[in-house]
Amino acid sequence: TAAEIETLRSTHIAEYPDFPTPGVLFRDITPLLRDANALRRIIRYWTTLLPEGIEYIVGTEARGFVLGAPLAYELGAGFIPVRKAGKLPGRPAGLKYELEYGSAEIQIPENSLPAGARTLVLDDLLATGGTAAATVELTRRFDVELLGASFLIELEGLGGRDLLPDVPLTTVWSIP
Ligand code: AMP
Repeated sequence: TAAEIETLRSTHIAEYPDFPTPGVLFRDITPLLRDANALRRIIRYWTTLLPEGIEYIVGTEARGFVLGAPLAYELGAGFIPVRKAGKLPGRPAGLKYELEYGSAEIQIPENSLPAGARTLVLDDLLATGGTAAATVELTRRFDVELLGASFLIELEGLGGRDLLPDVPLTTVWSIP
């Protein structure tokens, strides 16, 4: 039930103040990942929240891989990794984007998404939205049908969804 899922957040997501930098309350999903029953319940519950007809999940390095692959498997969809620059062979498509301090670059495998493919962008956590917005922009270069973006956790106070105004969002846990 929804109440059981809500309880899992307090028991299976650990919080670490001031990691990796002062002022950040880090949400650690590893207690969820190591509990076989909890992991299966979350993945199955999550699939019930997602839009119909997903053909590809685009997951962001690194926790978007761990959660995106079992979701794709459950849905009968393919999985596409978005990686930090320099990890993918061939001629991956890339996008530089601005962070609070400095910039970052992400890449997606070449020829990874057919035009029109019904696609979901996925990560473990939506904070300021910079990572998700960049992933959405890169994904859209393939002229896909973007069905939405989904996150295990949304930190609502950081306003990440404002960077994704035209993307339907689903989240398992929204934290005010
Ligand atoms: P943002 O681009 O600010 O939305 O940050 C999202 C990315 O950074 C995701 O890939 C998250 O895994 C990671 N992240 C940001 N804030 C946190 C946090 N408080 N706890 C855990 N991961 C975080």
